[in-house]
Amino acid sequence: MLVIHCPFCGPRNESEFINGGPAREKRADNPNAYADADWIDYLIEAPNPLGPVTEKWWHVMGCSMWFSIQRNTLTHEILDYANKTHD
Ligand SMILES: [Zn+2]
Repeated sequence: MLVIHCPFCGPRNESEFINGGPAREKRADNPNAYADADWIDYLIEAPNPLGPVTEKWWHVMGCSMWFSIQRNTLTHEILDYANKTHD
């Protein structure tokens, strides 16, 4: 079981959180600048990288805030708290 440090509540058990998956690039302001295949890939392919990944987590059983951490998806080791919050 992971202990995740919520930037608002402090260390909490993993069961209080929902993993929102890897943080993605900001959606392009102009989708027409992409080739159709690239745009479709962006919209429907869910990234599932193995190794160090910046992920979004939602403290659903706590403060309800979103934030990012860097975690190794192979070992589950938390590498860094990106200290970036999301709305
Ligand atoms: Zn929290």
